[in-house]
Amino acid sequence: MSTVGTPARPLYVAIIGAGPSGFYAAEALLKAPGLTVRVDLYDRLPTPFGLVRGGVAPDHQKIKSVTAVYDKVAMDPRLRFFGGVRLGRDVEIADLRARYDQIVYAVGCESDRRMAIPGEELAGSFSATEFVGWYNGHPDHRHRTFDLSCENVAVVGIGNVAMDVTRLLACDPERLAKTDIAEYALEALRKSKVKTVWLLGRRGPAEAAYSPAEIEEFGRLEGCDLVIKPEESVVGPVSRLDAADANDKKKVAYVQQQALKGEGTQGRKIRLRYCVSPVELVGEGGKVNAVRLERNKLVDDGKGGARCAGLGEFETIPAGLVLRSVGYRGIPIPGVAFDEKSGHIPHAEGRVSVAGDPLPGEYVVGWAKRGPSGLIGTNRADSVLTVQSMLADLKDGKLPAGPIDASPESAEKLLSSRGVAVVSYAQWKKIDELERAHGAEHGKIREKFTKIEDMVAALSVTA
Ligand code: NAP
Repeated sequence: MSTVGTPARPLYVAIIGAGPSGFYAAEALLKAPGLTVRVDLYDRLPTPFGLVRGGVAPDHQKIKSVTAVYDKVAMDPRLRFFGGVRLGRDVEIADLRARYDQIVYAVGCESDRRMAIPGEELAGSFSATEFVGWYNGHPDHRHRTFDLSCENVAVVGIGNVAMDVTRLLACDPERLAKTDIAEYALEALRKSKVKTVWLLGRRGPAEAAYSPAEIEEFGRLEGCDLVIKPEESVVGPVSRLDAADANDKKKVAYVQQQALKGEGTQGRKIRLRYCVSPVELVGEGGKVNAVRLERNKLVDDGKGGARCAGLGEFETIPAGLVLRSVGYRGIPIPGVAFDEKSGHIPHAEGRVSVAGDPLPGEYVVGWAKRGPSGLIGTNRADSVLTVQSMLADLKDGKLPAGPIDASPESAEKLLSSRGVAVVSYAQWKKIDELERAHGAEHGKIREKFTKIEDMVAALSVTA
């Protein structure tokens, strides 16, 4: 009988990705009754928390307080944080397979979907992911520049990410001044000449992906009107609002009431449009300056929902900057199974599978598992389900066949032999402390380090 998972031979687990789903998987493993487990939590960045740090908008600090839960998980002596270690660069899958009984991919969706229309490659056309990463000081995106000297910006898609970027562009930047927004982004927003943000939904108000709280926040923005065409706020028969849930009804009621307010008198406008699809980004001198839209009608999608179909009626709106916010997509990791079509890791009940066959010892959680959907809390139940599969496999003896180098020092030795500068959780707490102190000097919650080399340098100074 296998002794793996007992004090005689703990279960060794590597979790790749220290965002919400990775932490929730760690939490579920550490809480598993009767299990002796050691968890190594890897992240390619020296900082943990994934999209809570790099994605959640700076004016939504309450959402970020969830990190207190992750801190508690990280304080468990059975967990180690290996920050600044990238799978595929610093360690290979084979290295992990040789050292861990089970590997959990919690790598999220790092890329974004395309619109696949002419002009998408023009200068001034970006993904919302890039813009979000920029204002949040993410090391991957800090170097980007967005031309905010134009008066019109178009945001394509009406999910919650589109709501975030629209709000950041349309609000008074002074309401962000005390947050953890990157200083360079705050400065750029202060100089912004943007007057109108066009928010473009391809379907109607009953199908909108945003949450009620997010759309209602627009109505409370100072200095900005939410403008909706009354005729576009009407819900047609295909939308079946009578069968919709309370949230959808609330969203529709809100936009219909807003539509009655007309243009308003404020200097900035969010022009929320429904049933329009961008068909081309129009440029001049290689830079985008307009978006050509086709009006849509809604038709039955045959699955109880509504899909859009072009009407062949076109219009053009001005836009010196276009942010497509049409969903995220995973990036394949060398050696890890990946489904090109869906953009995530194929699995059955959280077990990574290839052509329907589970790969022993490999699991997936979060957006890498189910695609980019749900709120942060959605990941907790999702990670618990994957951990249930892991524990069932352990009980049934379904671990990888090969022997592993089961010792706590093994991974550390490997990384040190490769000269990888690993950041521990205690070192992250130091970075955290420095960021808070730096922020306090400027009346902000935090001033993030936005360059990895600055984080590493600050640690060597304080060591
Ligand atoms: P999302 O909710 O899936 O929204 C994507 C939007 O893009 C939808 O409006 C979709 O329209 C539209 N779209 C897709 N392809 C398109 C195309 N080719 N042309 C035009 N429009 C297109 O994705 P997301 O906004 O990236 O958010 C990802 C997840 O993170 C969501 O679960 C979201 O709730 C969550 N999140 C939450 C918060 C928060 O709670 N504050 C903040 C940010 C993100 P259709 O509906 O017609 O497909």
